[in-house]
Amino acid sequence: MSSVPVVGPKPSQVTCPSCKSSIMSKVKHKPTTKTHLIALLLCLCLCWPCVCVPYCVDSCRNADHYCPSCNAYIGTYQS
Ligand SMILES: [Zn+2]
Repeated sequence: MSSVPVVGPKPSQVTCPSCKSSIMSKVKHKPTTKTHLIALLLCLCLCWPCVCVPYCVDSCRNADHYCPSCNAYIGTYQS
């Protein structure tokens, strides 16, 4: 059994591994290689204003979860 909580793309109710409190995780999205590839594809097939789209779409990015009370890293949702 892994002690790392399973997290989704949205803030989730988890027990913080650091301060052991039941918290609603704070999510920070970050672009992945896939995000850059989609951006490149959109750039080639469409036009440049579309390039920012994958950077705004949650499903194209990983979501890092953090504890709002102690700021501990909880886990990452891989899109
Ligand atoms: Zn915590």
